[in-house]
Amino acid sequence: MTPSDFIRPSIKSITPYSSARDEFKGKSDSMIFMDANESPFENGINRYPDPQQNKLKQVISNLKGIPAENIMLGNGSDEILDLLIRIFCEPNQDNVVILPPTYGMYEVLATLNAVEIKKINLLTTFQPDVNRILQQANDNNKILFLCSPNNPTGNNFEVSDIETLLQGFKGIVVIDEAYIDFSQQESWTKRLQEFPNLVVTQTLSKAYGMAGIRLGTCYASKEIISTLNKIKPPYNINQLTQHVAIENLKSEFETKNHIQTILKEKHHLTEELEQLNFVKKVFPSDANFILIKVDDANERYKQLLKNGIIIRNRSNQELCENCLRITIGTPEENQQLISVLKSL
Ligand SMILES: *Cc1c(COP(=O)(O)O)cnc(C)c1O
Repeated sequence: MTPSDFIRPSIKSITPYSSARDEFKGKSDSMIFMDANESPFENGINRYPDPQQNKLKQVISNLKGIPAENIMLGNGSDEILDLLIRIFCEPNQDNVVILPPTYGMYEVLATLNAVEIKKINLLTTFQPDVNRILQQANDNNKILFLCSPNNPTGNNFEVSDIETLLQGFKGIVVIDEAYIDFSQQESWTKRLQEFPNLVVTQTLSKAYGMAGIRLGTCYASKEIISTLNKIKPPYNINQLTQHVAIENLKSEFETKNHIQTILKEKHHLTEELEQLNFVKKVFPSDANFILIKVDDANERYKQLLKNGIIIRNRSNQELCENCLRITIGTPEENQQLISVLKSL
């Protein structure tokens, strides 16, 4: 079996919508465009954006050292995750495997597509239960979602565990690397050649500081990427997003600086949190947030809220009883959090 054998037959045979900008790609400013029913009055945004985002993809390609033909862009990585489910999972028949506690959108998107969810909880170490995942596998397991570093636990999954899953899992393995830029572990994009069933997603929403423009990236085999491009909404990345992303990705220096600050602050915040008597555990984090276990999560959450600080109460998630998730802020914000916590 190759990944293309997993593509739903109806997707394989689909004829994609051919947009005006797909059919004629000419560039010359001297040409008259009367093909797309746009307004002819120039205001900087009156034309449809490039449906294949070639310029932006080239910037990302250079930045990541990955050929453009292995890159697909989405309206946030959430859009990419949705398209992946639609490519590989037959509604009311196939299922996706998720490893709670993890990012909530996998379940929402699968349910939205009438695709069953198979949950195999992480071990108490927050590592995947590799044996159970492989022992309980069946032919309808089309996608395994691995979030590494994992949200909300913050840890990387062991490289050897992921290798075993890439080799042993019969379907597509999606590694969600939303927090990879904060991690010491190398991105799995480096190993796409080795594993044809590997799909990696990343985002500009976290380390790159561009959550507001909604841009997610997907890296996979040429075949999977061309299928994603075939079924995505034609103009899914708007012109403003393409423009702002190209401009902001020029200043990689600033992003690296911010990452260094956040890592330093995370270290500092961890030390401070460990000294508080109502904090029972500070889980190690490879991301830009920290998960802590406290005496009474609901109560502590309310106390912080009263002091104008909003964190995430994760205590209803599997293995996360009385757990709170705190995003690392600016040094000033972190200091304020610490003084409020000390005053409780
Ligand atoms: C934040 C987050 C995303 C969402 O990324 P967008 O590109 O903003 O849609 C995806 N996966 C995980 C694990 C996240 O925490």
